[in-house]
Amino acid sequence: MAKKPINKILFILLAVFLLPLLIFTVYQISTLNENEKVITEIYDKQLEAILFSVNQYSQDLVDAWARDISEAERDSLYTDERMEEFLLENEAVRYILWSDSTLHNTRLLSLDEQENSEVHALLKDSLVSKEEDLVRLRTFQKGGYAKKQPLGRLKVEGSLSNQSALIFLLEEGIRYQVCLLVLDPGLFITRTLAQKIQSIAQENFIISAYDDANNVQIAVLDSIKGKVPHKRPLWLLPDYSLGIVLKGETIQDLAKERTVNNLLILLGVDSILLVGLWLIYRNIKREIQLAQIKSDFVSNVSHEIRTPLALISMFAETLEMDRVGGENKKKEYYSIIRHEANRLASIVNKILSFSKMEAGKAKYDLKPTNLAKVVEGILKTYDYHLKSQGFTCKYLPYENLPSIQADKNAVSEALINLLDNAIKYSNGSKEIGIRLGEDANGVFIEVRDYGLGISVEDQKSIFDKFYRVPTGEVHNTKGTGLGLTLVWRIMEAHGGSVSVESQTEEGSCFKLVFPVPRNN
Ligand code: ADP
Repeated sequence: MAKKPINKILFILLAVFLLPLLIFTVYQISTLNENEKVITEIYDKQLEAILFSVNQYSQDLVDAWARDISEAERDSLYTDERMEEFLLENEAVRYILWSDSTLHNTRLLSLDEQENSEVHALLKDSLVSKEEDLVRLRTFQKGGYAKKQPLGRLKVEGSLSNQSALIFLLEEGIRYQVCLLVLDPGLFITRTLAQKIQSIAQENFIISAYDDANNVQIAVLDSIKGKVPHKRPLWLLPDYSLGIVLKGETIQDLAKERTVNNLLILLGVDSILLVGLWLIYRNIKREIQLAQIKSDFVSNVSHEIRTPLALISMFAETLEMDRVGGENKKKEYYSIIRHEANRLASIVNKILSFSKMEAGKAKYDLKPTNLAKVVEGILKTYDYHLKSQGFTCKYLPYENLPSIQADKNAVSEALINLLDNAIKYSNGSKEIGIRLGEDANGVFIEVRDYGLGISVEDQKSIFDKFYRVPTGEVHNTKGTGLGLTLVWRIMEAHGGSVSVESQTEEGSCFKLVFPVPRNN
């Protein structure tokens, strides 16, 4: 077998198929990661936008409150009623502290029935301490921007602890008033903002708020478990933040799942391509092997024919010239000529049989046949041939062997081929065994030798046409590589089979199995 062209073809196939495949796979994997990055970024931005809209909403809400309070203040007849209504409607607003621009005249509003003078004083103090902020708010106001300034968590004890505050200015002609709102952050988030959060979150997200100072989650609907990658502070309550996650699978999970799916598809495509590549390689290898084997066949046959022809020609010439002394010598020469002519005939017959079979023209005349008779007939004919070469043949018959449907000539041809091989590949061991028998598969003939033997690898190919084992002493033995192919085809035509059991250096055993007709 020519190893070099096959290696070259393998190399070309690898270069043509595997290299682009490898490049494509690497490219796909790298773009997959890039795509995931882009998708993750888009999602990140979307989540940020959602948090932004919640913040914007709370800002709008406080702007609306400021307008309500301002209108209530102007409606001097019903100010108190309207403010009470406002406080009832917005339960997150605990206190409203009003003040004129001097911060001297202040008024506290709340739904609390209790004495609130202490709260009043505390809030007034904190308002006074925020004078700088008030100056800034006034500047903004003059510029037309009614800013609402969050003051964060009130650092006082009692009923104001854990409450947050914010201040803004109320315009009143050229004068202005200051308004300080005390908010209950929990209520603001779970009541005032809840509806908005719910409408945004719907089925897709979980939005939750966090009290950052105390590290507590204030869940609106569902609470978020684990780490929250998207968290933004609430503009109006700087000590609190909003977190958002995708409901069910997180975007990381989705991205991971997509990556895994894509990789699996890629792996599938790669495997299909590899299998295709392997099939192509196997076919090309077979074709090259066959071409090589055919050329070997031609040279084998030429060699096989040339030797007997040369011998026949040489001995005939010697006899013709009458140079042979003695009758015995003459007889020996005639015998050699006959033997070589038989050999020639057998080679030619083999090739003819094969070409008939290849053309589908082989005809088998299947008749009830007694296998034992066929075997014994051949052994009789072959006896001289075997003995002259020093072989002993052990024959084991079988009692009551059922008769089979067979073509006697074809079975003889198969058996002769096996016997020929047993002699050719005997490797010096001069014993051959023939056994008849019956088993579950039918009636069988076994031809056993103790010669060269056949490796497991070669056992797969010996029945292929033209195949000859390429190693060992086989090169010194003549042959066409057709004998076992003929045996195989003959057994096929009989609905039977041929099998081999062999071990190198130990010998081989070929078994022909014929089916037994049902009515037997
Ligand atoms: P050939 O004309 O080469 O004998 P066959 O088709 O009869 O062709 O056999 C194919 C190959 O199988 C042979 O070349 C030989 O290498 C191997 N072979 C066949 N029979 C035997 C055997 N009894 N012992 C060892 N090798 C064998």
